[in-house]
Amino acid sequence: MTNAIHPYDALMDITARPQTVFVRGEGSWLWDDTGKRYLDFIQGWAVNCLGHSPPAVAAALAAQAKRLITPSPAFYNDASLKLAQALVEQSCFDQVFFANSGAEANEGAIKLARKYGALHKNGAFEIISFEGAFHGRTLATMSASGKKAFEPLFEPKVPGFRKARLNDIASVEALINASTIAVMLEPIQGEAGVWPATDSFLKELRTLTETHGLLLIVDEIQTGMGRTGKLFHYEHAEVEPDIMTLGKGIGGGVPLAALLATEKAACFEHGDQGGTFNGNPLMCAAGFAVLEQVRHPDFLKSVGDSGLFLESELQKLSARHGLGEVRGRGLLLALDLKLPVGAAIVAQGLSNGLLLNAPQPDALRFMPALNVTRDEISQMVEHLDAILTKAGAARQVA
Ligand SMILES: *Cc1c(COP(=O)(O)O)cnc(C)c1O
Repeated sequence: MTNAIHPYDALMDITARPQTVFVRGEGSWLWDDTGKRYLDFIQGWAVNCLGHSPPAVAAALAAQAKRLITPSPAFYNDASLKLAQALVEQSCFDQVFFANSGAEANEGAIKLARKYGALHKNGAFEIISFEGAFHGRTLATMSASGKKAFEPLFEPKVPGFRKARLNDIASVEALINASTIAVMLEPIQGEAGVWPATDSFLKELRTLTETHGLLLIVDEIQTGMGRTGKLFHYEHAEVEPDIMTLGKGIGGGVPLAALLATEKAACFEHGDQGGTFNGNPLMCAAGFAVLEQVRHPDFLKSVGDSGLFLESELQKLSARHGLGEVRGRGLLLALDLKLPVGAAIVAQGLSNGLLLNAPQPDALRFMPALNVTRDEISQMVEHLDAILTKAGAARQVA
């Protein structure tokens, strides 16, 4: 038996990765093993809400690691009680279940809805989700997702999901039947290319679900924790959902996620839900350090202001290069490129020391640290301007 020849070969090849190997991060910046520096507007896919290795998270992890890492999920621990209490105080929900990933939190939301149907609605189990949605990579969350590329994979899927169209309330109403128990959506479809549900659509959904006795589940894994300038996106539309999931930003870079529910919806009985690492003190201590910073009104206002600044800079860039719309909210924005040049721009950015993401061939997505500075935003825009200028010149020669 020979061992792997190259260290890259020891990892399962599940996505096309550039050869770059990152070794250090600080705020909006990353360094690779050659010492090259990158300005990061991906931040682990909207995960590092306070930037790379934020001092508050590093300190909380170090202190907690010395005190208690894991007692057992069958016991209470002070760090998870503290974080649960804070999340309940800051939201319209009454109870929290901690998980390790967004997909796991969404699995929990799906199970909770089915449980509610079993208890209160004659075993209703169907969940209406949306075309284009992304809810994770477990079998049930892939089934809940409306991503075209998932359709042929890992058949048979988990049954019980029907897909409506975002911002089309009639398409939701048409799918409601006696088996329906919930409607589940991302307030802004992130992976699909940053497509926002309108506030009026969210209000209509709340009314419709109430009328039919259905639960409203918001997947705020990408939009929650201040990303859009409010602690939770549902606050913009002034609706109160029954269930919410959080992930990504909640841990500030470490694996933490949460399932939150109102008292009415929180109907798990003993044995229905669990998991070895759920609510472990180490991750919850990091989560609490993040929440303490992010929930501050001044912090949330600065996210909104930075978002408006980035949006207006992107609009100028779009006008200068004849590109399309800028969409999204707060610091979750996309620029429509009108042409399928996203991958080429991302590759050029990487070689220039700028990390960008193209969730779709014709769109760039921006999800910087929530404490990104104006200067860093300006630097990113200058980089991108240069890349677009070069690309435009190349197109004219071709
Ligand atoms: C990232 C994401 C998920 C999945 O989270 P994981 O931690 O990767 O399992 C689910 N829903 C939304 C909206 C996401 O952005």
